[in-house]
Amino acid sequence: MSGPTVATSVPTFSNYINGEWVSRGSTFENRNPADTGEIVGLFAKATAQDVEDAAAAAEASLPAWSTMTGPARGNILFKAAEILDRKFEQVAAEMTREEGKTLPEAKGEVRRSINIFRYFAGEGSRMPGMLVPSERDRVHMFAIRKPIGVVGLITPWNFPSAIPAWKLAPALICGNTVVLKPASAAPLSSWRIVEALHEAGIPKGVVNFVAGSGGELGNALVHAKPLKAVSFTGSCQIGNWLHEEASKRRLRIQLEMGGKNPTIVLGDADFNAAVENVVNAAFFSTGQKCTATSRAIVEEPIYDKFLAALVERTKKLKVGDGMQPGIDIGPCVDQAQMDTVLKYIDIGRKEAGAPKVGGNRIAGKGYFVEPTIFADVTQDMTIAREEIFGPVLAVMRAKNFEDAMGIANNIPFGLSSSIQTTNLSRVFEYVYRMEAGLLTVNLPSAGVEYQLPFGGAKESSFGPKEQGPAALEFYSDYKTVYLKY
Ligand code: NAP
Repeated sequence: MSGPTVATSVPTFSNYINGEWVSRGSTFENRNPADTGEIVGLFAKATAQDVEDAAAAAEASLPAWSTMTGPARGNILFKAAEILDRKFEQVAAEMTREEGKTLPEAKGEVRRSINIFRYFAGEGSRMPGMLVPSERDRVHMFAIRKPIGVVGLITPWNFPSAIPAWKLAPALICGNTVVLKPASAAPLSSWRIVEALHEAGIPKGVVNFVAGSGGELGNALVHAKPLKAVSFTGSCQIGNWLHEEASKRRLRIQLEMGGKNPTIVLGDADFNAAVENVVNAAFFSTGQKCTATSRAIVEEPIYDKFLAALVERTKKLKVGDGMQPGIDIGPCVDQAQMDTVLKYIDIGRKEAGAPKVGGNRIAGKGYFVEPTIFADVTQDMTIAREEIFGPVLAVMRAKNFEDAMGIANNIPFGLSSSIQTTNLSRVFEYVYRMEAGLLTVNLPSAGVEYQLPFGGAKESSFGPKEQGPAALEFYSDYKTVYLKY
């Protein structure tokens, strides 16, 4: 069976196991959150047995794939990037339709996935090891990288192409074989990557794709016998459960999870740029970025003026179907996510009073919620402590820089953060003292590139970082050699 098959006008997308498009049993719907009447596609619902088959296929393909030369593996990744590039417009439009982000944002993400594949394809020709002088005469000592084996990849819906890409590409270039389980809310974007790898000639079994229930497939994957490692991005709740299960089996594990990211705005900031940066980081992609700003911590002397400017700028944002030109913000990804956002807005009303702007669902065919700002939020409030993952911003008052740093760090999470200031000393103090994995200065807290390590600190993350040269640390191990000549 090949995929996709088109029955009536809705295409059906198969799973990909051992180089075959496999579709047995039932399907589930992938709906457009901007127009819930539109089904973007039907996906074959994989079972626990499919996961086992996929893991077995990955194990069987490991010897040949892991001994292929790095540049040869790289050539397949380059080819897949090329194929994705040829379908660029289509793949980006599909992402907007399945996830809801605006078309320009989707294009940016697909471009990033293509770049990620090219970057790691090149890594196949480098694959840095270590070579150091020995203390002993005529001893040559060095360390080479080796793959770790079959890797399970579990990904969220909010970056449905880039996150699968930044796990798949380094995993494959290091010589591992994989089973990918994408989020059910947006599986098509990663399906396109797997399709590109298939068309690029990746040997059968090296990449496997299983879509369906996270609970059933996640459980089957983490207990699949051949599995040696799991890389997960998603909520803390699922990540912490996976951590426990994976630890029992001594699997290598990498977790990237939630955040409650602060942007500190000091009195000396470039005022207008800071307003733009906070609005961008809080509301673009509907606030559904793990790196989105959900707490704006503003220094007392400019607090009132800054809050007023934020509210005015936010009122100008256009919410709607991301396929339409001029739209700034799309819908929440699904009903459950929208309900969560509305629940937190209710909590915010009780804790902080009426929002200064927004606070309501927008009637229509999609899961649209107004960008919402609560003012005078204090550290003890739920809306200042829990991840909402939607277009809701808590604005908090800080007496001075010290107070702002204290508020920013007083949280169990440590994913991203930002400071808006023109004071160089404050910038460096922030860089050294901020407890987060990702820091930005005079930029939005969201918007990262692929060439440097990515990942959080504290309870937001566990294990080695993703992306950039650091990605190799999770997906490969060292073999150390002492050689007398
Ligand atoms: P999620 O509900 O935790 O789901 C993530 C993935 O886990 C999905 O593929 C899901 O499948 C699967 N899953 C569900 N139950 C599972 C189980 N019992 N065992 C194994 N896998 C299971 O997260 P989400 O709603 O997709 O994504 C939003 C969250 O991701 C936010 O908390 C956000 O901060 C975080 N995130 C973090 C980063 C980062 O780099 N730190 C980046 C992006 C997002 P189903 O879809 O089928 O349920």
